[in-house]
Amino acid sequence: MNIYLIIILAIIAFRYLLESTSDLLNLKAVSPDIPEEFKGYYDAEKYGKSQDYLRETTRWGLFVDSINTVVLVIFILAGGFGWIDGIVRSLSLGPILTGVCFAYFMMLTVTVLGLPFSIYSTFVIEKKYGFNRTTPKTFVADFFKSMLLMFILGGAIFSLVLWIFGGLGDLAWLYCWGAVAALQIFLMFIAPYVIMPIFNKFTPLEDGELRDAIEAYAKSQGFKMKGVFCMDGSKRSSKSNAFFTGFGKTRRIVLYDTLIKNHSVDELVAIIAHEMGHYKLKHIPSAIVRSLVVSCFMFFLLGLCLNNEGLFAAFGVDNLSIYMSLFLFGFLYSPVSMLVGIVESIISRKHEFQADAYAAETSGLGESMISGLKQLSVDNLSNLTPHPFTVFLTYSHPPVLQRIRAIEGKIEN
Ligand SMILES: [Zn+2]
Repeated sequence: MNIYLIIILAIIAFRYLLESTSDLLNLKAVSPDIPEEFKGYYDAEKYGKSQDYLRETTRWGLFVDSINTVVLVIFILAGGFGWIDGIVRSLSLGPILTGVCFAYFMMLTVTVLGLPFSIYSTFVIEKKYGFNRTTPKTFVADFFKSMLLMFILGGAIFSLVLWIFGGLGDLAWLYCWGAVAALQIFLMFIAPYVIMPIFNKFTPLEDGELRDAIEAYAKSQGFKMKGVFCMDGSKRSSKSNAFFTGFGKTRRIVLYDTLIKNHSVDELVAIIAHEMGHYKLKHIPSAIVRSLVVSCFMFFLLGLCLNNEGLFAAFGVDNLSIYMSLFLFGFLYSPVSMLVGIVESIISRKHEFQADAYAAETSGLGESMISGLKQLSVDNLSNLTPHPFTVFLTYSHPPVLQRIRAIEGKIEN
């Protein structure tokens, strides 16, 4: 048996086992006792509902992941990559267009096969727990819009990479990294104006008490406001959130309409203070720099793996090509990207604590931050007691009880 095939099957099995173990541990960590901090926010019945939600979404996730993994392994062993490659090659479109067609074919297949799962999750599970607000019309529109976006943006980036690797020699990986990095930064810059409005409506926060309070806080911190926007998150779900997007001249803070509806002015100012904390503490540029370093390393490795005959043989692909190298390399790279994800989550959780501390100190609204976090967790039926292993693997934010306790510590000081 081909050594690459053994390695890749081992990688797939390892990832599956790791994530399933994390899910099972998370399910075992569920306890009917309401944490002290949440008494008064949850009664036994509603807390039970939040745990049913966790159980149902986790079991569903496990089921979907199992099917996906089995299908992927069968596809690899049956020589699916070689078979599809044969079909696109028969169109005789030249190296770049053939590659783009192959990518489109794969993308379309994966998306269409995933559609029933996504329909069930949105219209059955999310609906059952009262979260779903997505109409079939919005769902269909989202599907076509995101496909179109993937076709245009994905197609453009993929062609660029194929073109550079096809003609720019030994240092092609470096040029590729430079081009993709520049494009990535450009996309981040234009996203709030061009990409995000395709899916949601963003309206500047109305005049009134909330806007005055936010502006007063921003002014006290010398934060030059580029705008706070309200997003119609209620179009898809009753869950709520807030985030920071864009950078430089396009940076803005976005609050879901559902968040504004369910929180007091003080709680919302505290949430904004947290988001500004990320900005003031330079968490965004540092994340961009880290991602550039990682992608540089990735392109370097990719350069080494181009047209590796053993790798092609493992997948049953007869003809060497750059586009296929990119896909096959993805399998070898997945453990690295998993490791990077874990390290990024560790850094992100540290940054969340820092932004909380910044917000509590500068706004003096520590108590409102705590009540806001509690309300947010209840509204979203968040898991209050995740297993530490799941937190370690996937949590970009610390578990809410840890955040609350850290803020309480700040208030006492
Ligand atoms: Zn944050």
